[in-house]
Amino acid sequence: MNTHGNKTERPPVVAVMGHIDHGKSTLLSYIRKNNKPLGEAGGITQHISAYEVEHVSEDGKKHEITFLDTPGHEAFSGIRTRGAKAADIAILVVSAEDGVKPQTLEAWKSITSTNTPFIVAINKIDKETANIEETKQNLTENGIYLEGYGGDVPSVLISAKTGQGIPELLDMITLVSEIENFSGVRENNAEGIVIESNRDEKKGISATCIVQNGTLRKGMFIVSGTSIAPIRIMENCLGKHIDSATFSSPIVIIGWDSLPEVGSSFTSFTTREEARAEMAKPQTAKTNIKHEDIAGFRIPVIVKADTGGSLEALIYEIEKLTTDRVGAQVVLSGIGTISESDIARANGNIKALVIGFHVDIDPSARNLAERNKIIVEKFDIIYKMSEWLQDILKKSTPKMEVEESIGMAKILKTFSKAKDKQVLGCKVEKGTIAMGSLVRIIRRDAEIGLGRVRELQQQKSKVTEVAEGHEFGTLIEAKIEIAIGDKIESFITIEK
Ligand code: GDP
Repeated sequence: MNTHGNKTERPPVVAVMGHIDHGKSTLLSYIRKNNKPLGEAGGITQHISAYEVEHVSEDGKKHEITFLDTPGHEAFSGIRTRGAKAADIAILVVSAEDGVKPQTLEAWKSITSTNTPFIVAINKIDKETANIEETKQNLTENGIYLEGYGGDVPSVLISAKTGQGIPELLDMITLVSEIENFSGVRENNAEGIVIESNRDEKKGISATCIVQNGTLRKGMFIVSGTSIAPIRIMENCLGKHIDSATFSSPIVIIGWDSLPEVGSSFTSFTTREEARAEMAKPQTAKTNIKHEDIAGFRIPVIVKADTGGSLEALIYEIEKLTTDRVGAQVVLSGIGTISESDIARANGNIKALVIGFHVDIDPSARNLAERNKIIVEKFDIIYKMSEWLQDILKKSTPKMEVEESIGMAKILKTFSKAKDKQVLGCKVEKGTIAMGSLVRIIRRDAEIGLGRVRELQQQKSKVTEVAEGHEFGTLIEAKIEIAIGDKIESFITIEK
């Protein structure tokens, strides 16, 4: 469907992450106020949860950068669990007053597990209590190795309040972007990600999307999951109506038929028919996951180890065990004995598992753990820890309902219709059609309704099943009138 055009350089999409109060919002609003939005003079007034700026680097070259301006990093991790990636580059903001905090580590884990290139911005350097050297050491202790500190993570010293260092941070983003060589094909139909969706009484349903490839034009159709919108009203991040948008622009599209899911990807088509066919696809796919929040099921884990190196290795192994249905999330990690405060931290809404590697547990911590039924396990071999945790995760995996396609048949003849009972002549094209099964009714590749097989006959005698390649007669109960050329797909819902 997409043409093969030339690849061109694409501006980076940047997410700002880090611990609460470390200055994410201040940084984002400083950049928003002090950088020229594309094609406009003056700062951007907040309109949507992403914006594009133009940055002029030291050598006078102009660069476009898109910032995701989402509260916290929910969007980033939410999007991650659905398997797509919203940001090309992440900025990990760390306060020079406080150093690494639990959410710093959480953010860092999200970043590394998606292999997103990132820059550490050491913030609040204008404050008297700021301690840059200590912050860098603290990052190292936690396994975040900066350039000059045994690693290759670039860092920039900034003050989101005074603006000090922010041009350098933007230069660094441009540099990383050049190294990574992000590219896209302008001639393609647009693809990207939904980062926000809203229902408004007057306006109807709108969604903020980031175009990651191709071009979106008025008159096209955009599809995300089972939601569709004709591109009639499209706005840029300044709230202006636009006729087309290409990478890496954030845009608002108004007029969806249902609320598209935040974090899901979108594709676009020139005709409604193509768009409808795409929408039918996930329903005819083999695994159509129904269970809503399985992606979010995470068991909290606290890890203590004897050295930074083993801590890093443990965290890596723990995160490897995460599947799309269940996983362990390291909420706290550190070097040294398992202390009472570690156990207190584990005693939350969902009790965390406490893992010690080559470390002891304080007697008071052991007492507290026993009283609160907190599981504490000590290991001295990493794979033993992996085996133990994998076993726990397996037992905790939530069941989910999955639809499995069993067979597909084509309608050759229609005989009669009385109320919602229809007698049809069909041929099985794939798999089998079974008596009593639920069927999707498919017209020109799009699902138009559901029905149930009430009778099944082959050569005038009743059968329970018809195999591939055979013709059969059937009575289907369905609200929709089935026509010659339609298909019925039989499926079952199973728990996995
Ligand atoms: P967020 O929770 O990460 O979005 O943090 P905020 O941007 O809300 O910042 C938390 C507090 O720190 C606010 O009171 C900010 O004014 C202050 N703050 C943020 N950055 C700086 C900075 O560079 N210097 C100083 N002095 N204060 C800052």
